[in-house]
Amino acid sequence: MSDAAAALSLTGITKAYNHGKPNEVSVLRGVDLEVAAGEVVALVAPSGAGKSTLLHIAGLLDVADSGTVSLAGQDFSKLSDRKRTAARRQDIGFIYQFHHLLPEFTALENVALPQYANGVLAAEAQARALDLLSRVGVDGRADHRPAALSGGEQQRVAFCRALANEPRLLLADEPTGNLDPGTSDQVFEALMALVRDTGLAAVIATHNPELAARMDRIVRLDHGKLSAA
Ligand code: ADP
Repeated sequence: MSDAAAALSLTGITKAYNHGKPNEVSVLRGVDLEVAAGEVVALVAPSGAGKSTLLHIAGLLDVADSGTVSLAGQDFSKLSDRKRTAARRQDIGFIYQFHHLLPEFTALENVALPQYANGVLAAEAQARALDLLSRVGVDGRADHRPAALSGGEQQRVAFCRALANEPRLLLADEPTGNLDPGTSDQVFEALMALVRDTGLAAVIATHNPELAARMDRIVRLDHGKLSAA
């Protein structure tokens, strides 16, 4: 496959905040990154280095000052907000440090809801939600609301929600950063199994060197640039 077919391709990404002001901060200074389908990349960065900024740009939630963001060979950097939003909904799954599940809905409904937004019928969406929940071992909690789940279970449900619409790319910002070390390890294993099973491309930011070492490749963000670690 050519480079253009990488699941995610970032070229020459720059981003500054507070342009032209005394407190201007240049966060990304020419970031290049290619992630192939099925590849899991660890993103390691000191706090404040611009990890969230980079993930938001890669996930089409924010716009770079310059450079291109391509998904499966299509350049999304200059498309309309509407097209970027559609691509985000269909092709990209996000996981954050906190689960952000909807408190008034059950685990099953939290995983089914994003599918409804994509036009999937209820029975099909619920069956897929249950299948995903079973793959991370929380199908027994399918009818529990988030408040009745442990931290590790909440995060497993959030993984399922992120994968509900079969994205090509998963972006995760410290997905187990909020859990105690033992739980973090198990929940990370569950995430990796799910990712491997679906063959998606993933960029997973972590401060934990042991978790980073379990991914295919480590890239380090420092002083606005990415380097291989
Ligand atoms: P990380 O996720 O690596 O901790 P961020 O991407 O959140 O880093 O932020 C990188 C730098 O950009 C930090 O110095 C932060 O203060 C600054 N920054 C982030 N967002 C904004 C914003 N909206 N306005 C101004 N500065 C920002």
